[in-house]
Amino acid sequence: LRRELMDNERMRVVSVISASVAHEIRNPLTAVRGFIQLLSRNELAEDKRRNYGMICLDELDRAQQIINDYLTLAKPQPEVLEELDIADEVAYVAKVLTSYANLEGVEISTTCAPELAVMGDRSKFRQSIINIAKNGIEAMESLGGNLEITAGKQQGQVMLRIRDNGNGMNKEQISRLGTPYFSTKEKGTGLGTMVSYTIIQSMMGKISVNSEPGKGTEYVILLPHINRVRSG
Ligand code: ADP
Ligand code: MG
Repeated sequence: LRRELMDNERMRVVSVISASVAHEIRNPLTAVRGFIQLLSRNELAEDKRRNYGMICLDELDRAQQIINDYLTLAKPQPEVLEELDIADEVAYVAKVLTSYANLEGVEISTTCAPELAVMGDRSKFRQSIINIAKNGIEAMESLGGNLEITAGKQQGQVMLRIRDNGNGMNKEQISRLGTPYFSTKEKGTGLGTMVSYTIIQSMMGKISVNSEPGKGTEYVILLPHINRVRSG
């Protein structure tokens, strides 16, 4: 029953937000369509042509970012619950984000205690961590820095900490985390933390945030620990 309630809650969030996400994606697509029509005119000056091309790329990037931040949650596939090894999942997330981090001059370091496991949907869990880690990387953009992912046990629960030494947040910004469309980024979607929070909550987890402007941010995620079922 608890699972069902959680699914209903997720579906409710998904349907409330789907409508506006569809709208958000339609905007850039409409813009791109318009500019491509303009581009097909012969008399268009070269600088304008280049400018329109850039706008198209920006708009397509935006549509792609909305899909990236949101995809797993909205995917109509049924949730598959399985035992997730935290060290494996952290390694996966670090690998996926390495090239993005390199681009921003950021290093990723991971420290994981062994034998930590939680119950969850693998791709959703990955997305929740990726969205948070991505924010950490983006917070250090042009500053360079280190994104530190640590996993351990805390009071019988699995503790996952994602820490950056980036630009940090003030109290007001922290309080808006997890709500849709809050973004301070020029190309932000404001969907990443909303998706992460929804997923962690559906796994009966808790997220807390410590942050200081100019210093950095740490997200601490606590999840119920499960005893691993060992085969063989
Ligand atoms: P987006 O990344 O598209 O802006 P998110 O929901 O992922 O949307 O994040 C919302 C906002 O929260 C960001 O725009 C940023 O202002 C703030 N934020 C989240 N994580 C961090 C972080 N690690 N450091 C600094 N600011 C952050
Ligand atoms: Mg984000």
